[in-house]
Amino acid sequence: MTDKVVVITGGSRGIGRAAALASAARGFRVVVGYVSNEAAAKEVVSEIERKNGKAIAVKCDVGSEADILALFKAADEFGTLGALVNNAGIVGPSIRVEDMSAERIQRMMAVNVTGSILCAREAVKRMSTRNGGAGGAIVNLSSVAAKLGSPSTYVDYAASKGAVDSFTVGLGHEVAGEGIRVVAIRPGLIDTEIHASGGEPDRAHRLAHMVPMKRVGTADEIANAIVWLISDEASYVTSAILDVSGGR
Ligand code: NAP
Repeated sequence: MTDKVVVITGGSRGIGRAAALASAARGFRVVVGYVSNEAAAKEVVSEIERKNGKAIAVKCDVGSEADILALFKAADEFGTLGALVNNAGIVGPSIRVEDMSAERIQRMMAVNVTGSILCAREAVKRMSTRNGGAGGAIVNLSSVAAKLGSPSTYVDYAASKGAVDSFTVGLGHEVAGEGIRVVAIRPGLIDTEIHASGGEPDRAHRLAHMVPMKRVGTADEIANAIVWLISDEASYVTSAILDVSGGR
């Protein structure tokens, strides 16, 4: 158990929500980030408080540096940062690269890549022993798309997750001697609303037959890996990328 703060971007729904509930159950004080669904974020906070945990909801578009600075300011007021879960991420409708607009690609990179790096920057400032911090862990949500490339679907998304993988390895090495572990999880097909946001609510179930385990995964199955990785039980794990994908 810990009384440290964990910041979870996109903690209001899907994998982030499951990670928020699981972190609170292990004693973390949870900062639940959300971009627009305030009701969902407040529901997560209520659910945590109902079980005597501590949580706050903070609106933060990770595509905005100002929002990220405000998110970490709120976290500072809530307690001592011990972990960051870079979970917020977006997909786009399935199209070929030749039909992609610059705006779509730029937004994908701003949210999935730049947002994750800026959040990590703020976490390192606070957690690095080099800066007087007590150490901690950063978990980045990548995707098996980083390996598969997602042709004719969302190559831009896959590329953004490839960047997350490289960033995980590099930052992990950079701060390995400063008490901070940096790891990534590559989920496979997980049953959340992200597929609907890409215009295909049934996508995960439609492709389930391609998964060696022949089923989609649940948000809780990803959250279980997240809470292990931010715990001291994973104390020798850094710069590592864990596939949680049913073998995909
Ligand atoms: P989801 O169900 O669509 O939930 C997305 C969450 O991120 C929501 O809490 C949303 O907040 C928040 N969000 C969206 N855009 C944001 C922004 N610009 N700034 C801050 N927060 C933002 O997604 P999910 O399926 O749980 O995915 C979570 C992570 O896992 C993503 O990085 C995704 O790429 C990765 N992943 C998912 C799958 C899968 O199959 N589900 C597979 C591989 C990887 P609001 O509630 O306010 O909208």
